[in-house]
Amino acid sequence: MDMNTIEELLPTADPAAWRPGDAWLAGGTVLFSYGSSTLRRLLDLGAAGWTPITVDADGIELAATCTIAALYELPDTLPQRLPETDAAPPVWPALALVRQCCDAFVASFKIWNMSTVGGNIATGLPAGPMTSLCAGLDGVATILSPGGGTRTMPVAELVVGDGLTSLAPGELLRSIRLPAHALAARVAYRRLSLSNLGRSGVLLIGRHDGDGTFVLTVTAATQRPVQLRFGTRPDADALDADALVRALDAAIPVSLYHDDIHGLPRWRRDMTYKLAEEIRRELLGGGESAGKEGRHGHGD
Ligand SMILES: Cc1cc2nc3c(=O)[nH]c(=O)nc-3n(C[C@H](O)[C@H](O)[C@H](O)COP(=O)(O)OP(=O)(O)OC[C@H]3O[C@@H](n4cnc5c(N)ncnc54)[C@H](O)[C@@H]3O)c2cc1C
Repeated sequence: MDMNTIEELLPTADPAAWRPGDAWLAGGTVLFSYGSSTLRRLLDLGAAGWTPITVDADGIELAATCTIAALYELPDTLPQRLPETDAAPPVWPALALVRQCCDAFVASFKIWNMSTVGGNIATGLPAGPMTSLCAGLDGVATILSPGGGTRTMPVAELVVGDGLTSLAPGELLRSIRLPAHALAARVAYRRLSLSNLGRSGVLLIGRHDGDGTFVLTVTAATQRPVQLRFGTRPDADALDADALVRALDAAIPVSLYHDDIHGLPRWRRDMTYKLAEEIRRELLGGGESAGKEGRHGHGD
């Protein structure tokens, strides 16, 4: 789409350069498809030069400009990305979520190769699969402000509604840190869509950490991520189906379920309870195998 109010394309990743009427430009797949009648300048992050993915023993850092295509390669390239030490490479079963969440995107060439982790989170769509991935793995965002400050915040709290984030005007999402304790967890993934190539209507990620904590992250079904966290052993291990239902009731009011063409709130709610119980049984009660896809495939 033409954006005929744009007067300047400025290559910069310096938040001090931001002024009203500016927007950060990452992959452009939202900016150039939705358009704008108010923006004056695009601050192009394309030349930021940020290393897309950095790995160390403490976890993984994703630059906001990391593309979906680059992220998809991470599970295969992890050993080469680790610093050279004598230590054994970490065992991170939760890396399985990377491809599952990438696959939850529309898989067109353009989206796959251009859109970025940061652009997805900053757009704040309920069905944002990078929000699902990073929230589900306790990702922490680093945010740079135009005044020169830096703050951090869990991705699960960064998206606050449908198309809404807690980013202040001009704030720049720099990176997301995925901590080793979450990457080392056993995980379970469930996704449903109403149509064969449909956008996610419900996307749940479960995590059972080494200390016994059970974390359930609900996305796509709700307007913003909702995270349920059940203590360390023996509390989480004792979580039964009724307790899970009560916890979901308490955490997600009916009004928080998302309502758009990709699913009615009632359906999203029913599927959230169904898939949450599947995840509970898989991770805490034995049973089904990991990584189930909903009956329908990826994308939009
Ligand atoms: C056909 C189609 C299907 C799509 N399907 C989906 C889908 O299923 N799920 C989904 O979530 N999205 C979907 N999208 C929307 C979009 O492609 C993704 O959200 C994508 O990840 C956005 O990333 P981007 O890098 O292209 O963002 P851009 O278009 O560059 O930017 C999007 C917004 O984020 C801001 N922004 C970008 N980077 C930063 C940063 N580092 N810090 C602060 N603000 C920033 C921009 O200013 C802009 O407001 C779809 C789009 C199309 C065209």
